[in-house]
Amino acid sequence: MIFSATSSHEEGCDRQWSILTKGFTVSNGEVTGLKVVELDWIDPATRNFKEKPGTETVLPCDYAMIAIGYQHPDPVGLLKDVNAPLNNWGMVEVDPNMRTSIPGLFAAGDAQRGQSLVVWALADGRKAARSIDEYLMGESHLVQNEMSAVVISE
Ligand SMILES: Cc1cc2nc3c(=O)[nH]c(=O)nc-3n(C[C@H](O)[C@H](O)[C@H](O)COP(=O)(O)OP(=O)(O)OC[C@H]3O[C@@H](n4cnc5c(N)ncnc54)[C@H](O)[C@@H]3O)c2cc1C
Repeated sequence: MIFSATSSHEEGCDRQWSILTKGFTVSNGEVTGLKVVELDWIDPATRNFKEKPGTETVLPCDYAMIAIGYQHPDPVGLLKDVNAPLNNWGMVEVDPNMRTSIPGLFAAGDAQRGQSLVVWALADGRKAARSIDEYLMGESHLVQNEMSAVVISE
């Protein structure tokens, strides 16, 4: 839909279009190929497509990097153990002060915001630190400001 070529592409690669990866072939625990099928686009605007019957094939592959972007934290480990509240997108649900509905459980950065920027992770972390301070001490003298990183450095 939007064609772009970055320096990484220019370094050399073969790009294939309108194919869907359906799975991997594996031998002795190592990936050996991608099972793919060609697609017919019904309506590119709505990203509606259907598989072309009989076009299934395997592309040789010995290393696969899944580049689908950040979705949400895996609901395993700590998140599962404490039954952390998640929103409809799978992010940890927090109030504006980074508190979850579970007393003593806070979240900051991508885990509650989704894929974002380092500056937001820093600001969220500072906000969470203040909330944690309040939770533990009953009050906090840490700066309460979206731009606390700037205020503190002044
Ligand atoms: C490829 C890529 C490029 C990016 N480029 C930019 C950019 O140019 N500029 C920009 O501003 N942002 C960029 N970002 C986004 C930025 O990296 C994130 O927004 C930021 O790192 C989020 O910080 P965070 O502390 O919330 O999470 P993270 O940096 O993801 O830190 C979470 C940490 O928690 C650890 N962890 C996870 N689960 C557990 C567990 N159960 N127990 C203990 N530890 C655990 C992880 O190992 C990790 O160290 C990029 C992100 C990616 C993936």
